[in-house]
Amino acid sequence: MAGFTRRTFLKMSAALGAAGGLIPVDRLFAGPAGGIEKGAPVVISTWKHGIAANDAAWNVLSSGGTVLDAVEAGVQVPEADPGVRSVGYGGLPDEACRVTLDACIMGPDGNCGSTAFVEGYKHPISIARRVMEDTDHVMIVGLGAEEFARRVGYKREDLLTEEARKAWVKWKSGLSSRDDWFPGGEKNHDTIGMVALDAAGDLAGACTTSGLAFKIHGRVGDSPIIGAGMYVDNGVGAAAAPGRGEAVIKTCGSFLVVENMRRGMSPEKACRAALERIFENHGGKVDFQVGYIAVNKKGEIGAFSLTEGFSYALARDGTNELIESGHLR
Ligand code: ASP
Repeated sequence: MAGFTRRTFLKMSAALGAAGGLIPVDRLFAGPAGGIEKGAPVVISTWKHGIAANDAAWNVLSSGGTVLDAVEAGVQVPEADPGVRSVGYGGLPDEACRVTLDACIMGPDGNCGSTAFVEGYKHPISIARRVMEDTDHVMIVGLGAEEFARRVGYKREDLLTEEARKAWVKWKSGLSSRDDWFPGGEKNHDTIGMVALDAAGDLAGACTTSGLAFKIHGRVGDSPIIGAGMYVDNGVGAAAAPGRGEAVIKTCGSFLVVENMRRGMSPEKACRAALERIFENHGGKVDFQVGYIAVNKKGEIGAFSLTEGFSYALARDGTNELIESGHLR
């Protein structure tokens, strides 16, 4: 884990064998002969809600679940938490006061699923997984996705909390001075992206969000777009992004991070180089945030952001820590 330009431990939860906490990895994985690279298993996810998400993912890995099960269960935690105002239930609504959600998931076999502009379903990540596993499509959006979710048995719910509604009223009464139609508007960069490497050396990733706060109704960001908000190549590594989705889409962000690792860069360098691309694309002027997290096949991890203030949660070796990334500007 050498190479962080700035590494601040903000929180540590290292419960040994306690319910809900991490169990030391050497107790969990005796290590089948051959195949386990140093550094596996590892779970990395964005922002402070990544801590609880990592715990859930780790619990799945420790009870023999697949890496795909782990990332799905992990990101379901903030999706269900009304206190997280940027993901799932409790997410801030769009300009029409509607909570519209985006998510994608990708497994070690290269299969993937995605959903976007979905209303009324708390776990878009699970809709994305059903798209991946129950259909030969990759992406189902909007009313079609809601109908699909109903057909596969998910329950429709009202996802707008009173707190989120009040935040919308406050924004609305500000006559769009804090809207997010343009960079510099409402800062809500707290998408959860998670990538994980299991003990057998398999990679998976998941990404889920309510998107930018008070966005134009119908706007979809990078988070449900395979290769933008998240990407996995089981031979190389995996990456995910929170932040200004438009900038990530324009540079195929997570795909670029993985391709950078394929060309030999460390995960941190790969993230940094992908952010430099965004910086260049914007003529050296950025007034928004983008962060990347990445893990390679060896279990080495990295993260970087455009500007100060991005943190990620890292679970491995019996610890689960919130770490502040290095940043370009
Ligand atoms: N990436 C998300 C989007 O553009 C926003 C975020 O990360 O907060 O929809």
